[in-house]
Amino acid sequence: MGRSHNPDTREGSEVVASRARGALERLASSSRPRLYAAAACVFFSVTLCLIAPLNAADPEPWGPLELVDGHIQPGERRVLYLGIGETFAGHSVSTPVVVLRGVRTGPTLCLTAGIHGDEINGVEIVRRALDEMDPKDLAGTIIGVPMANMHGFRRSSRYLPDRRDLNRHFPGNPNGSSASRIAHQLFERVIRKCGLLVDFHTGSFHRRNLPQVRADLSRPEVYSFAIGFGSKTVVHNLGTPGVLRRAAVDAGVPALTYEAGEPMELREQEVRRGVEGVRNLLANQGMSKEKPRAIRGQQIFYNWHWVRANDGGIFLATAKLGDHVQAGQVLGHVTDPISNESTEVVTPYAGTVLGMAVNQVVMPGFAAFYVGVDTNQPATFPIQGAEPDDALDEPFEIDARPE
Ligand SMILES: [Zn+2]
Repeated sequence: MGRSHNPDTREGSEVVASRARGALERLASSSRPRLYAAAACVFFSVTLCLIAPLNAADPEPWGPLELVDGHIQPGERRVLYLGIGETFAGHSVSTPVVVLRGVRTGPTLCLTAGIHGDEINGVEIVRRALDEMDPKDLAGTIIGVPMANMHGFRRSSRYLPDRRDLNRHFPGNPNGSSASRIAHQLFERVIRKCGLLVDFHTGSFHRRNLPQVRADLSRPEVYSFAIGFGSKTVVHNLGTPGVLRRAAVDAGVPALTYEAGEPMELREQEVRRGVEGVRNLLANQGMSKEKPRAIRGQQIFYNWHWVRANDGGIFLATAKLGDHVQAGQVLGHVTDPISNESTEVVTPYAGTVLGMAVNQVVMPGFAAFYVGVDTNQPATFPIQGAEPDDALDEPFEIDARPE
């Protein structure tokens, strides 16, 4: 049936309607079930004739997706390989891109992990989330890049072989450093095709995070997306310039980071929570057949602070992730290995322990805990007295905010 605005079309529709009435009258003498079926068919045809010419805003037909070097058909699951440079030996390196093209129209949800090659919880979350989804039950598209930094993943390293952090170079530059070129490939050929993005991380270097979503909650479209993941803990954070999440949001792709656990470790509970978060997003976005679930007990943190050690020595924590702490409370101790003198690590802030270092040796200024400030108040942006945007990503390198 045509979709043109031919003035004769409405007339044509009336002719069809009149014929349909005649047909109904003729059918009235036959059996009743047959009459109902026929009437339904005729009504459907007439309705189409009347509506279709007026509805110029029909969605584009849902066809194959062009991505990297492939065409993925509706209902198909495909693994593509995105070239991301070469090794020292000149061998080309690629990273798998798993695509599930749904049978019905819908959003494109991207799941990236392993941008820090030693953070493996996200690799398993993306694998499970993609494995349990059948494209025949999907509205929209899921694109998974489980080992985005393949160079680092092969070496169990956070970094690229030149010690650069890939997650400081987005959206990248085709003529820049190796990190910048890899970022450019990922960003231009995959991320720009995304409608929504979840990037999976863990704490860095002997640090552990309470499972949490981080997102720029000052943007309404990001806020609703981030809340929909269903994490009990949501932290407002813009992210360091060059971080994938921030570059994606700047490019118009609502994005969140899910942080859970620490590097080089698979935590079953955190993985399960991550997969459930993806499931929640699919339901909230109308991409799966599941009904969106009510989220209970969610806590949003608009402000947070590092609690740092003031002495060098052996750090042993007494507080745990998720503890509610009072201002002045002792969270751990640092002991001099020779003199046996011990000092307390005290939080000046009341709140919830959202992240912490595992027990280790430390120097003065070491960021031992990060405490989210409990609040029931709606936020006013920018947040007054907030830590720098990059402080969450760079606990070793960023100075504490002047008191
Ligand atoms: Zn990370």
